[in-house]
Amino acid sequence: PPLFSAITMAPRDPILGITEGFNADQNPAKVNLGVGVYYDDNGKVPLLECVKKAEAILMEKFAPRTYLPIEGLAAYDKAVQELVFGADSAVVQEKRAITAQAIGGTGALKLGADFLKRFAPDAQVWISDPSWENHRALFESAGFTVNNYPYYDASTRGVNFSGMLNALNTMPAGSIVLLHACCHNPTGADLTDDQWTQVIAVVTTRGLVPFLDMAYQGFGDGIEADGKVVRRFAEAGGALFVSNSFSKSFSLYGERVGALSIAASSAEEAARIMSQLKRVIRTNYSNPPIHGGQVVATVLSTPELRQLWEEELAGMRIRIREMRAAFVSKLKEKAPAHNFDFVTQQRGMFSYSGLTKEQVEKLRDNNSIYAVDTGRICVAALNKRNIDVVIDAITAVL
Ligand code: PLP
Repeated sequence: PPLFSAITMAPRDPILGITEGFNADQNPAKVNLGVGVYYDDNGKVPLLECVKKAEAILMEKFAPRTYLPIEGLAAYDKAVQELVFGADSAVVQEKRAITAQAIGGTGALKLGADFLKRFAPDAQVWISDPSWENHRALFESAGFTVNNYPYYDASTRGVNFSGMLNALNTMPAGSIVLLHACCHNPTGADLTDDQWTQVIAVVTTRGLVPFLDMAYQGFGDGIEADGKVVRRFAEAGGALFVSNSFSKSFSLYGERVGALSIAASSAEEAARIMSQLKRVIRTNYSNPPIHGGQVVATVLSTPELRQLWEEELAGMRIRIREMRAAFVSKLKEKAPAHNFDFVTQQRGMFSYSGLTKEQVEKLRDNNSIYAVDTGRICVAALNKRNIDVVIDAITAVL
């Protein structure tokens, strides 16, 4: 039979499907809360000043576009490693960590997954229930069986911590545990410091392999505070995988800038790991693109640009906080019978709002307000102009 005739249609990406529906909607008052992107108060994806300045510096050089090394731009890898683990950390000082530039956070996860499949082929992967919708597909496509550990508790609108801890306590040694370092996507519910202490203890003593996904550093409580979990895991010793992304924190979505870092127990072990990781990269895409990495490296290693980045990132974080607070206080006024206080406890761009699938459908059909079926809304898509429309529509469907 002809090769292509047996190919069936793949299901649509649920999140990208929302944006397709939104784009086709003619209502001028439409609002897209289904996205995973930070919008400024004008409803636009910002181009950060620090990025503009770094690009101006790069533009003046008119440098040739040679291939980067397989593991990426050296200045980028160094700056990212210091950001992720801390320049003064033992892993960095003792050269026990390796960092490879990756095609966004997604690319970093895929590199880690492919690497793990080569060296831990029989391990299984555990992700939170729920998790970023691509985690499961990504690890499955690398050949792993993917399981869920309990995470979100709809009744408390928080973390089912005892369920999570129980699951960690019963996984076979060597299991790969994917954890959101901060700003859990999709729920917005993060662990407390004390809960992390318990998770780190179980993961370490039971010989589980932690894989921290940090796609939103700086969107929770600040760059340092959000990265603390990574440092604490590194201090605990043992194998550690960290994927990070600058898509959101630099508003550089389309440049695809991320990295995979791995902490090992010695410099010699780290060198062996890097040599094997390079084979994974070489057979995937050979080496990463140059521009985004140069922009981020320039910002991170130029003190005044770095200062500017930290201020601009703080601006995004504070605006999201303000939107959370406004969302809660306006609903308190309009729908006093309902308690939305949990929204201000959540961290990052997202909120599991508690809206049901039926309510989400009504918001879309009656008001052209688009959210994810699960009730996930992107708080970063709210602004001073659309929030009242959104609040009135939600009040009407409650
Ligand atoms: N991990 C999580 C939890 C995310 O939410 C995202 C993006 O939405 C990613 C990874 C992927 O990041 P990137 O767009 O840089 O590939």
